[in-house]
Amino acid sequence: MDNETLRKELEQAQADNTVLINLLDKTNNQVFTFYHISRTIASTHDFPEMINQIFAVIGKSISFERASLYLLDEDRKVLHMQYSLGLPEGHPQTINVGEGLPGRIAEHGEHSHIHDLSIFYDTFNDFIHSPGETPHQGAYIGIALKSKESTIGVVGIESSRTYGLTVDDMDFMAMISHQIAAGIAKSHLFTKTEQLSRLDGLTGLFNRRIFQTTIEQELQRRTRTHAPLSLIMLDIDHFKQFNDNFGHQAGDSVLQELGHVIQEQCRHTTVDSCFRYGGEEFAIVLPGLDSTNALRVAERIRHAIAGHRFTVIKDHPGRSVTVSLGVATTNGDCDPTSEQLIRQADKALYASKQNGRNRVTLHEVTG
Ligand code: GH3
Ligand code: MG
Ligand code: MG
Repeated sequence: MDNETLRKELEQAQADNTVLINLLDKTNNQVFTFYHISRTIASTHDFPEMINQIFAVIGKSISFERASLYLLDEDRKVLHMQYSLGLPEGHPQTINVGEGLPGRIAEHGEHSHIHDLSIFYDTFNDFIHSPGETPHQGAYIGIALKSKESTIGVVGIESSRTYGLTVDDMDFMAMISHQIAAGIAKSHLFTKTEQLSRLDGLTGLFNRRIFQTTIEQELQRRTRTHAPLSLIMLDIDHFKQFNDNFGHQAGDSVLQELGHVIQEQCRHTTVDSCFRYGGEEFAIVLPGLDSTNALRVAERIRHAIAGHRFTVIKDHPGRSVTVSLGVATTNGDCDPTSEQLIRQADKALYASKQNGRNRVTLHEVTG
C-alpha cells in the first residue's frame, strides 16, 4: 500500500470517526433531553412552568427560533395557544381546527415536517399561526400531541433556516411528544383535583377551608389599606323542621338552589366570595364594603331567597324558605382577628334569630 492510499484511508477513518462522534453527541443530547423532560414532568405541577421548562430542555438538543403549543378546547373546535416563543407580537391566541398548519395537524392527528417554508407558502397558500402572516423562510415541525389515542393539541418548532430541522429532529419530537402529552394530562388532572378540593360538593360554592384562608388574606390586606371589610353569615330558618317535613333529600336540593341564589346576588358586588360555612350556614366576604353597603347586599340576598320558588316546594303555595343574616363590618384602624369578626357576625345572626328570623342584623366593629 502506497503512502497516498494510506493517507486517504486515514482521512476516511477520521471522517467516519467525526460522524460517529457527532452521532454519539446527538444521541447523548437526546437521552439528556428525554431524561430532563421526564424529570420536569414528574416534579412540576404548574402547567405554564412545565411547558416553559420542556421547551428550554428541547432547545438544548434541537436548534429552533420559534416554538408554539396549542391545546384543543373541550368541544374540539378551537386550538388555544398556551405557549409561544419568537412569534410576532399580537399574534392570534386561537386557531380553528382545520385551519392553518396546527389546525390541520389537530384535525388529522398527523405530524408535519416542512423543510422549506417558502415552497409551503408559495404552493399551498396557507399559514402557520395567523391567516395574514408574512411568509418567511425556514423549516417547521408540528407534532400532534396524543393522549389515549385522541389528539389533545399541537406542539410546533420552527427554524429560520431552510432545511434547518432534520428527520432526526422530527423523530425525536415525535418520540418526546408522548411524554409531553402525559405531562399535560397530569398537570390538568392536578389542577382539576385542586380546584375540586376547594369546593363544597353539594352547592359548588367554596368550602370552609377556603373561607378561612380568604378572610385571613382580606384582613391581612386591610391592615395596609384600612379599607372597610364586611362579613355576612347566613343561616336557614327552621331547617330542621323543613327536613322533617320534606325529607333530607329535599333539604339538600334547597341548599343547592340557595347556593345559586346567593351567588347570583353577589355576582355584581364581588367575585369568588360566597362560601358554604357548614351545614345550612353560608358566609359572604365583602372586601371594601362598609356597613351601609354590606347591609344592602344582605337585604338583597334575604329578599331574593324569601321570594325564590324552590323546586321542592313549588307545589306548596304559601310555603317559602327564609334565612337570617348577621353582618359584621370592620372600619378604620380596628384590626380584628378572623375569629373576632366571625364571632361578631355570628352574634348579629343570633340577634336576627331572636328577633323573629327572616331578617338582617348589623354588628359594627369600630376601633
Ligand atoms: P334556626 O331557625 O334556629 O336556624 O332553626 P334550624 O332548624 O335551622 O336550626 P338547627 O341548628 O336546629 O338545625 C339545622 C338543621 O340543618 C339540622 C340539620 O338536619 C340541617 N342540615 C344541616 N346540614 C344539612 C345538609 O347538608 N342537608 C340537609 N338536608 N340538612 C342539613
Ligand atoms: Mg345552623
Ligand atoms: Mg338554621
